[in-house]
Amino acid sequence: MSEVDYRRWLEIAVAEAEAGRAEGGIPIGAALIGADGQVLGRGHNRRVQDDDPSVHGETAAFRNAGRQRSYAGTTMVTTLSPCWYCSGLVRQFGIGRVVIGEARNFHGGHDWLAENGVEVVLLDDPGCARMMAEFIEANPQLWYEDIGQD
Ligand SMILES: [Zn+2]
Repeated sequence: MSEVDYRRWLEIAVAEAEAGRAEGGIPIGAALIGADGQVLGRGHNRRVQDDDPSVHGETAAFRNAGRQRSYAGTTMVTTLSPCWYCSGLVRQFGIGRVVIGEARNFHGGHDWLAENGVEVVLLDDPGCARMMAEFIEANPQLWYEDIGQD
């Protein structure tokens, strides 16, 4: 797998984030990619839509993928650095790689993942950073609720 693949996968996560934004939700999207590069599942943050703070982009993609025998060769691609909850999911299930759109607006647990053997690819995509910055600017209370800060 190469940066070309990572960018292509990020486009899927971005499309999910944009779908969430169009629904009035928090624009964070993700996809779980199989070892062969196929999309196993995709999803976006649904805190607002479902009134459920546990539905993050990564958890939505993970659940959408259904049961997998092994996660060792899988990649979680996400528009934003994964929070502790989603970083925990990556380690719990042994997801081998995390591809991140950006970590400018939020620096989650990806250093911890890298320290624990997960391959972390930070693409620092300007489009992802802009989308999140615009959302935070327009919806600061919703954002601080989502990351668990007052
Ligand atoms: Zn999360």
